[in-house]
Amino acid sequence: NSEYRVVVFGAGRVGKSSLVLRFLKDTFRESYVPTVEDFYCQNVEFLSYTLDDQLIPCNNNSVCNLQIVDTAGSYCFPAMQRLNISKGRAFIMVYSVTSRQSLEQLESTWKTIREIKGSLNNVPVMLVGNKCDEIGARELTVEEGKERARLWSSSFIETSAKANYNVKKLFQELLRLEKTRTLRI
Ligand code: GDP
Ligand code: MG
Repeated sequence: NSEYRVVVFGAGRVGKSSLVLRFLKDTFRESYVPTVEDFYCQNVEFLSYTLDDQLIPCNNNSVCNLQIVDTAGSYCFPAMQRLNISKGRAFIMVYSVTSRQSLEQLESTWKTIREIKGSLNNVPVMLVGNKCDEIGARELTVEEGKERARLWSSSFIETSAKANYNVKKLFQELLRLEKTRTLRI
């Protein structure tokens, strides 16, 4: 049984845990519960696209153990972040569209991922602007997010864990970045 580990990074309070819980359990809570580091895993089925766009199970290892590491955000011990990166296969970098600072804080994470993984060309990385339901409190436009993603050679999506907007798509798109494989969710 093959393993596929996704690591979720981002500043505190941007909604990392909310996105993971919305995706895995379809729940949302208004209160803030700081995360130490949570680890989730569940078996999912990897599928391939045929030439005429049909989805079929991959011949080998079609069942895969999807692991999601929900990190604390701030790292008292940089070695922990580096370990998560070296063990991770794909990365979700979350900021809140209500906080420009939360986007800037991702830069060091991005640099560390690039440093440890070498080139990012074959590493699925998704930049996520969460809390897009907070229309009045926006500090960043969609265009600014897209532009940053372009600079960082990553994909981009805006989400709302609260409104359940684009959360499933975020994970589907991330796994689609694994060249010929995608996932049934
Ligand atoms: P984390 O520290 O990045 O894991 O952030 P949390 O998932 O714990 O969320 C921090 C706070 O933001 C909580 O009070 C959540 O209810 C709230 N929150 C999370 N996602 C959203 C969202 O999409 N929209 C809004 N308005 N609030 C959110
Ligand atoms: Mg959290």
